[in-house]
Amino acid sequence: RSFELINVLQRIVKKLSVTHQRNIEFKTHIKSLNAKLNQEQFIQLITIFIDNAIKYSDKDVVISLNQRNKNVILQIEDKGIGIPAESLDKIFNRFYRVDKARTRKTGGSGLGLYIAKEIAQTNDIGIDVQSELSQGTTVKLTIKEQYIEIFN
Ligand code: ATP
Repeated sequence: RSFELINVLQRIVKKLSVTHQRNIEFKTHIKSLNAKLNQEQFIQLITIFIDNAIKYSDKDVVISLNQRNKNVILQIEDKGIGIPAESLDKIFNRFYRVDKARTRKTGGSGLGLYIAKEIAQTNDIGIDVQSELSQGTTVKLTIKEQYIEIFN
């Protein structure tokens, strides 16, 4: 089973921007991308990262899809509060939240990224998070060549 990833991505982006009343930019030069992945799990994975980008920033979220070598990189970028360096290796842990006191107006259980990691592992998707406090966070998901067919 495979699905057209750009269509699915645009549907998620549209839905989340309406739900959260936020602008989400989507950029790609790829015409069409067939992905041999679990579609439901892919939607869940992307939704978790976009939800976080929205939740922890108040500026536009930017999503981009690019080819790198034969793989595809899906990037989710926010210009929000960022993650402290010492927390970066913990954010995928079950129930971990940077702000334990929950003084933030944003609620959450700290399960989102734990689930995301599980889904990524199941689908052989790579996750790389770069973040700078008060500057923002960039998540790069690598979808490997054996799971995709790229049409330019
Ligand atoms: P939920 O389980 O409801 O998603 P959550 O957002 O607290 O709640 P995770 O998605 O697992 O849980 O994220 C874990 C922690 O990582 C968050 O509490 C937050 O501190 C930090 N975090 C995740 N994404 C971002 C981001 N884009 N910018 C800043 N901090 C982030």
